[in-house]
Amino acid sequence: MRAAVYLPDGGIGPGRLAEVELAAEVAGPAELALPEVTVRDERGGELLHRPDLVYEPAAGGGPLAGVEAERQARAFGLANVAYHARRALRFAADLLGAPLPHLVVRVGAHSSASRWGGGHYRLPGDTDPPEPYPVAETGEVHLGGGRAFVPGTGTPYFHAPAHNAAIVYHEVGHHICRHTADFRANRLRPPDDQHSGKVALDEGTADFLTALLLGTPDIYGWHRRHIPQWDPRRRQLDARWTMAYLRPKSGGHAHANGTIWASALWTARGRVLAHGGDGERFDRMLMRALSGLGSCDGPVEREQDRRNRFGELLGELLAADAELAPVVRAAMADHGIHTEGSNAQLRARMRGTSTPAVTT
Ligand SMILES: [Zn+2]
Repeated sequence: MRAAVYLPDGGIGPGRLAEVELAAEVAGPAELALPEVTVRDERGGELLHRPDLVYEPAAGGGPLAGVEAERQARAFGLANVAYHARRALRFAADLLGAPLPHLVVRVGAHSSASRWGGGHYRLPGDTDPPEPYPVAETGEVHLGGGRAFVPGTGTPYFHAPAHNAAIVYHEVGHHICRHTADFRANRLRPPDDQHSGKVALDEGTADFLTALLLGTPDIYGWHRRHIPQWDPRRRQLDARWTMAYLRPKSGGHAHANGTIWASALWTARGRVLAHGGDGERFDRMLMRALSGLGSCDGPVEREQDRRNRFGELLGELLAADAELAPVVRAAMADHGIHTEGSNAQLRARMRGTSTPAVTT
């Protein structure tokens, strides 16, 4: 089916509007079904009325748009999410040599409570706030309906998360992590009592995959362009982010701490390319490492603690490709990531070498 979507163009913006071929089926008035992913607008309505999926982005629609513009924007969002979610899932499946479990994406989720401009990845189990949906065992991505206009653009664009490939890629990245590294050791927990919380390595891996798929390290440049590039909240992958910036007691800082891991991966991949290596080989190395980290059985608490360590995942990475290992090891060391030591120890080590001790 023909579909209008935004294609990543490496710039600051939603991407280039283009028509693509999308193997999707209209499964309902607001639902698209693909082999890899089901995408549904939870706000309902007769969105998908055309024989194809060529809808107008309508500047994101939103509360100030007319009824028809809002309908176009939501229909466009469904096709855009389907395209990018499928692309990310296929990218990972090709590298892993096996498909990932089916993903459900709910667009306009949680819209009755309040306007929401973000997304999250959920598994069945207690969450805060609680989920009004029976969450699929294999995992779900929920995208808000949008809360505000993209700041700092000349013409107003309502920031509907479904129009933002970066948000889609990041959340699908959590699905990829859940079924590989499984940072919360959810495979070892009951299927109906899963842990939806994210650790830094989960956030960082999702951000790195987002950068790969977008082709830029400034992954949130579109909707966060008002935040300076050096501010951790911009989440730009950058050589400056080392373990020295790790905020201990990771609660609440998983995204910022994750930027350290994402940046280190970005540096390592760049270094592999600079040495005449193959980027795809590095990507496969990462997928192998993620699967390796998640393949151990053991008490949940112990596994969760082990999988939380930057050094452990680096160890898996180095073991996944002996030939690339020396270049990757050196790049990771520049970010203060070594195979020995806890996260706190790596932080202390990096701080000790990067800031001279103050003597009084
Ligand atoms: Zn996340």
